[in-house]
Amino acid sequence: MSNIIEVKELQKSFGSLDVLKKVTFSVQPGEAVAVIGPSGSGKSTMLRSLVHLEDITGGSIYINGKTLVENGKYVNGADIRSITATMGMVFQHFNLFPHLTVRGNLELAPRTLKRESIKEITARSMDLLTKVGLADKADVYPSTLSGGQKQRVAIARALMLNPDILLFDEPTSALDPELTGEVLRVIRQLAEEHMTMIIVTHEMNFARDVADRVIFMDNGEIAESGTPEEIFNNPKLERTRMFLSRE
Ligand code: ADP
Ligand code: MG
Repeated sequence: MSNIIEVKELQKSFGSLDVLKKVTFSVQPGEAVAVIGPSGSGKSTMLRSLVHLEDITGGSIYINGKTLVENGKYVNGADIRSITATMGMVFQHFNLFPHLTVRGNLELAPRTLKRESIKEITARSMDLLTKVGLADKADVYPSTLSGGQKQRVAIARALMLNPDILLFDEPTSALDPELTGEVLRVIRQLAEEHMTMIIVTHEMNFARDVADRVIFMDNGEIAESGTPEEIFNNPKLERTRMFLSRE
């Protein structure tokens, strides 16, 4: 099967700081890939590069067979937008719009795009809120929700544009421990439905259970990648072992 995400020798520097050093990997349709690694290793920058929240310094990114950037040169703006629109992203801090209701958060992007009727948009937002267990919260404001509920809203919002790929950047890191389960359950269900996902996470048990493949990033590089079994039970590198023993 052909790759839905293909990243070749991705480089990103902030000034003289080389944050990503020729990162190469690919993801197949329906795969759930967990990315683990120490703070500052470049995990967020890598995800943000895929959706063009960062301008990369060098290398290539192909999404769904389309070129986003090749050898550091981006395609034109309209093509960048149409390619990145096939991906949804969920952030650590939810990033919900506080002045919009839960439903308003879900419906903003599709209403702005005007590709469908309001009726279709509303039907989908209610379906997705039901899917994440929050149908009864459609008309409340985010400030009235727990962190776990906010993150489930953020996931539903990311699904509103029917993305081919979902990217999660530490979706449970800002949550109290008792609220992580409800968010991880939603992500697990998406994995069971074969949504293509990259999940940056510190939840090692979750990565082991849910991911098809695990990438260990360290110091701006993919140090090691493999099946959860390989990475967690039989890591090749001492630095992978060291990292896992600290987590
Ligand atoms: P991780 O998500 O693995 O913790 P990040 O991708 O957030 O790592 O950061 C990798 C490195 O890039 C860190 O050293 C961080 O300080 C640096 N960095 C990230 N964003 C910026 C930025 N906008 N400007 C300067 N340095 C940055
Ligand atoms: Mg990060």
